[in-house]
This record gives sequence, structure tokens and C-alpha cells, in this order.
Amino acid sequence: MEGKVDVAVIGAGIYGLMTAHKLLLRGVRNVAVFERLFIGSGQSSRNAGGIRAQFANGATIRFMVEAERQWKCISRELGYNILFTRDGYLFSCFSDEDEGLYALHRKIQNENGVNSVWLEPGQVAELVPGINRDGLVGANFSSQDGILHHDAVISGLMFEIRRNGGKIFEYTPVERVERGASGGFLVHTRSGVFSASYVVNAAAACAPGIASQLGTTLPIKPVRRELIATEPMRHFMKPMLVSLKYGITIHQSLRGEFIGHTSANEPENFDLRAGFGFMVQYAKDITKLLPFMKNVRIVRQWAGTYDMTPDNSPVLGPAPGMPNFINAAGSSGHGFMMSPAVGSMIADYIGTGRIDDLMKPFRLERFETGELLTELVLSNRGVL
Ligand SMILES: Cc1cc2nc3c(=O)[nH]c(=O)nc-3n(C[C@H](O)[C@H](O)[C@H](O)COP(=O)(O)OP(=O)(O)OC[C@H]3O[C@@H](n4cnc5c(N)ncnc54)[C@H](O)[C@@H]3O)c2cc1C
Repeated sequence: MEGKVDVAVIGAGIYGLMTAHKLLLRGVRNVAVFERLFIGSGQSSRNAGGIRAQFANGATIRFMVEAERQWKCISRELGYNILFTRDGYLFSCFSDEDEGLYALHRKIQNENGVNSVWLEPGQVAELVPGINRDGLVGANFSSQDGILHHDAVISGLMFEIRRNGGKIFEYTPVERVERGASGGFLVHTRSGVFSASYVVNAAAACAPGIASQLGTTLPIKPVRRELIATEPMRHFMKPMLVSLKYGITIHQSLRGEFIGHTSANEPENFDLRAGFGFMVQYAKDITKLLPFMKNVRIVRQWAGTYDMTPDNSPVLGPAPGMPNFINAAGSSGHGFMMSPAVGSMIADYIGTGRIDDLMKPFRLERFETGELLTELVLSNRGVL
């Protein structure tokens, strides 16, 4: 036996690291994170850093309101600047037909604690100078939302976990998990076997492989998503801009680069190669939305793997019949933004045995009971 830990966390992405950090804050000292590659090597260092509570169902919105509340405190909590700017998310609307849908979203959001408002085209153009106003009907906008730098968050968490005595084992894949004595687990890694009282399965699209070793089926599929970054320009666009018409998002980083992604027609696999087709399609769409982009050069492009569930929402909490085996996976393209609340609620569950009311709707059992958290509008338009 290599060692004994209170909590073994599988995966050093944002879900695993936030959980380890929040456990250490609660005073659980013997926490080990096992990562098959290096810290943040999954999606957590390949995303756009967008943080929003503008969703279309109450449970997700309420969860995100709590996550945004926590994001405001994370720089202080970590003693590390995560470069979080709260300049809003702007959902542009280019169709009269969609206006009713946008109003419905605002109503659900406002009822659940989000201050989203409708902007007229002139107000949209003030926030997004250069937007193509041809056919622009308006936008939903919430100033509570924002953008952060994912690498800063990952680095801050890594330093803080180690400072507080937590262990992160890199290049240490978990090969097998089995039930051990007295309700615990044996975690087989390349570096030896660890006994653990709790296991947190935060292995994203690889989580189903681990859960299945204990007889649990997670409905999670890997799907490729791609991003581009342009050369830097003078900083003039503050919010994250979303276009349901083209199924794309774009924001300007603090360095001035435009960072954009789309989600349509990507394969279901772990392929991390960047595709020429994506770049061409993105260039076509973004130059219709923001015509000034015709003169801006793309300088980088990369891909990441979304871990998608059938209702585009994560699976959070103990596996049925296994209170000490906790899943935190299936983030479906918006997991970074949810992560502080995911980490603190899982840490609270391990500390108290109580499942937070905000986390209950995300349990795995919803796929049996039919209580899905469907985020259809965004996913159908490819913006998730
Ligand atoms: C292009 C793109 C844009 C995105 N934009 C946003 C955005 O704007 N806002 C937002 O909130 N989210 C965004 N996301 C989604 C976000 O990145 C994810 O939801 C989030 O990072 C998920 O974190 P995670 O820890 O679950 O997964 P990951 O970061 O993928 O971490 C899982 C880790 O588990 C490790 N692992 C797997 N199997 C094993 C094993 N057997 N043993 C040990 N380790 C293992 C992996 O190596 C990996 O490091 C985006 C994603 C992509 C790809």
C-alpha cells in the first residue's frame, strides 16, 4: 500500500482542484489529487473563461448566482489575482421571432436573482462598437457576468492547495478504483495503491470509465470544441458577446486579443487537433457579426474536449447507493463558471453528509426520474 488519504480526487482540472481547495479550507487535511498528465491539462486550460448566470432554467441560474458570488471572493481567498472582470455577457438578438424567447429568458433569470435587461440596438452598439446593426433587434445583457483568466485560477489553486498541505500527483493516472474495507476505496495508480475514505471522480469525459468500475453508468460523451485567438488590438470591447444567430461567442482579453469559439458540427471524440474547417467557418461568421474583424489576423487556434450529458448539465453528488463515491463531471461546456460552488458544495457534503439544496437537481438520478435540466436554447444554437 502506497498511502492512506481521507479524500482521493481524480483529475486536476478545475472541478478537482476547487474541491481539494475547499476541502482544505474546511480543515480536511489529508487530500490527494491524482492527475494523469499535468495540472490543468484538460479543458480547464483550454476554455474562454466566461462566467455567466444567464441560463434558461431556474436550478442552473440559482447555482450560478451562488458561483458568481464566490468568484468575487476567489482572488482574496487564494491570495492570487485571477483577473476577473465583471463587464457582462451580451446575447445579441437578430430575429423578431427570438425576441419573445429572450423575454422569457429574462423573466426566468430575473425571478432567480439575475439582473438581465433588454438593450436596444443603440445601447448594444455602445457596448460592442463595430457590431453589424443590420437586422439587429437588441440584446439580453447582465452586468453580473464576466470573464476571468483560467490559467490564473488554476495556478492560484495549485499554490494554495500545496500551501495548505494538499498533495497533487501529476503524471499519475488512476487505473482502477475498487471498494475497500469499511466503506472506503482502493485507488490503483501508476505510482501505487492508495486507500481512501472518499473518492471524488472529477475526470471529465474520462469519468464514465472510472464510475463503471464501481457499477455506475455516467451518460457523458466527449465532444471537440475549438477556439481561435487573434493578434492584440487596443482594448475597446468589454462584455462577452454571444450570437445565437451564428452560434458563436467572442470576447476581448485584457491583452487585447479577440478570443472566440463556436460549437456546431464537431465530432464526438477526444481529438484535440485544430481543424481548418472551423477556422474558415468562424472567420465567415465573425466577419458578418463584427465586420472590422476582416482586418484582424488569427494567430492561434486550439481544441478542447467538452464532457457532454444528455441535458447539457453536470452530474454532481454521490453515486446512487455509494455515498462515499462522488461524481463531479459532465460539465457540458460551462463547468469553469460553476466550479467554486461545485467545490464548496462537495466539500460540505463530505464534511457534513448533507447535500446542498442547490446541488440536488444535478444528481445522477435525474436521468432515471426524468427531471432533466435541459438548456436546449443555447445548445441547439451551438453556443454551449
Ligand atoms: C473550447 C472551450 C471553451 C470553453 N469555454 C468555457 C467558458 O467560457 N466558461 C466556462 O465556464 N467553461 C468553458 N468551457 C468548459 C470548461 O473548460 C469545463 O467545463 C471545465 O474546465 C471542466 O473542468 P473539469 O475539471 O471537469 O475537466 P478537465 O479540466 O478536463 O479536467 C479533468 C482532468 O481529469 C484528468 N483525468 C482523466 N482521467 C484521469 C485518470 N484516470 N486519472 C487521473 N486523471 C485523469 C484529465 O487529464 C484532466 O486534467 C470551455 C471548454 C472548451 C473546450
